[in-house]
Amino acid sequence: MRALIQEWPLLCHKIIDYAAIQHGAREVVSRSVEGPIARTTYTELRSRALKVSERLAAEGLNRDDRIATLAWNTARHVEAWYGIMGAGMICHTLNPRLFPEQLAWIMNDAQDRMVFVDLTFVPLMEKIAPLVTSLVKVVVLTDAAHMPDTSLPGAIAYEEWIAGSTAEAGWVSADETDAVALCYTSGTTGNPKGVLYSHRSNVLHAMMVTRPDAMEISSRDVVMPVVPMFHANAWGIAHAAPMAGAKLVMPGGRMDGEAIWEILDAERVTLTAAVPTVWLMLLDYLRKTGKKLPWLKRVVIGGSASPRAMTEAFEKEYDVEVIHAWGMTEMSPVGSLTTLKPEYVALKGEALYDLKQKQGFAPFGVEMKLADDAERELGWDGKTFGRLKVRGMAVASSYYRNAGSDSFDSEGWFETGDVAHIDPLGYMQITDRAKDVIKSGGEWISTIDLENLAVAHPDVAEAAVIGIADPKWDERPLLIVVSREGATPDADAILNFMQGKIAKWWIPDQVAFVDAIPHTATGKINKLALREQFADRMK
Ligand code: ADP
Repeated sequence: MRALIQEWPLLCHKIIDYAAIQHGAREVVSRSVEGPIARTTYTELRSRALKVSERLAAEGLNRDDRIATLAWNTARHVEAWYGIMGAGMICHTLNPRLFPEQLAWIMNDAQDRMVFVDLTFVPLMEKIAPLVTSLVKVVVLTDAAHMPDTSLPGAIAYEEWIAGSTAEAGWVSADETDAVALCYTSGTTGNPKGVLYSHRSNVLHAMMVTRPDAMEISSRDVVMPVVPMFHANAWGIAHAAPMAGAKLVMPGGRMDGEAIWEILDAERVTLTAAVPTVWLMLLDYLRKTGKKLPWLKRVVIGGSASPRAMTEAFEKEYDVEVIHAWGMTEMSPVGSLTTLKPEYVALKGEALYDLKQKQGFAPFGVEMKLADDAERELGWDGKTFGRLKVRGMAVASSYYRNAGSDSFDSEGWFETGDVAHIDPLGYMQITDRAKDVIKSGGEWISTIDLENLAVAHPDVAEAAVIGIADPKWDERPLLIVVSREGATPDADAILNFMQGKIAKWWIPDQVAFVDAIPHTATGKINKLALREQFADRMK
């Protein structure tokens, strides 16, 4: 028997409609790429997104065409993204930290017809555009006064481009299962793989993100995603904040500690989110200047493990609650968060920070399981680790153009490539990416645990661990360290510091000091590059 309830489709543009109706005057504040702080509202943003939709149709573009963006987090980028989605087209966010050849490969794979590009990235796009056969038009996210001289095809300033439209045509009708956005994983091995989101998965994911046991976003919050929209949809925040009616603050292209602090403070941000490298810069700035974070209540840290020292600094020194989160582009991206279940709510001090080393529990809509190499399901005892698999309402069912189909099984489980354990209350902890874990004498060593411990040493700014060849044990950990400015720690001091805090046989035998550790386009330690750098120790 069919139910007698309306089938109200879950469409992305309904989020911005809702924000305009119920929270229309709420501000959207951006650090513009041109420099000054720019202010708009959800009402204004929606009306400009409608203009984008109308203009796209007038360009002769078709439904399902892929329209790329190469841009920082700003209101204009949000307008373009709702405008593309509301026009029945597919918004493809490009990560400017990739190499031009990689970007060209991705744009050709996606067959992008048009791109919205920030001023900052015009020179980069000039290198890429001649390599992308499908590209017919480039809109530069600026006004006519700032428009640079450029050879880009059909180049026009955004403000000029939307100026003639009326915003009266409205959104294009769509099914909730229609594709609406495309994002490529960074592909540290092999070519990047596209993840194609639907209206429905984005809306459900945004609802999941706003919930109290996730990021707990309400209309009383001021939310700043430092995590870029090109990194797994700003972790859903560009949908979740308007859905909740929260004031949205977009930090633009400046991610240094000073710029982040300034905007956090000036706009009284209550919730922010980014990868650990961003927070390293902010904490460093706070320590140097003695500045505080009086407005900030919660910080979401994800993308790579939040080192314990970072969690403690936010909670103890600045009274900001850390929500450690794990996710993947393939999951829209949120998979788990460390909000506290009642059984853990009384935890204090060390026990609380131990818990926050974990990546947390899955919200409604995400299922998890652990499997061993023989595909046997493993128990949730907080110790036994295995391959983490997931499925859920916003998890990919396959990759775009069917790349990497081995990652999905017939029951819909997606192989995350992460190794983890899960405790009896459902709190999951990543021990490693399967390809990074060190196998020493047949036993596994978690590089994440070693890195977290090393950065707790006061003279260590950043640390990475990779496996190097060992005639007796096959592999042993090599600790790679960037010293804190002005400090010159020696290897023994760091290794002695690790004694007693971790199994003895996990302690690295060698330490290498470097000036900088390479990062991937999504801010993770680039272990592939480190393995190349230390190739002589890998044989
Ligand atoms: P990319 O591979 O393009 O960088 P993702 O951001 O989707 O894309 O990367 C997802 C991976 O990042 C996860 O599979 C996991 O290995 C790692 N990761 C994400 N969050 C965390 C976290 N909190 N702790 C440890 N690893 C994490």
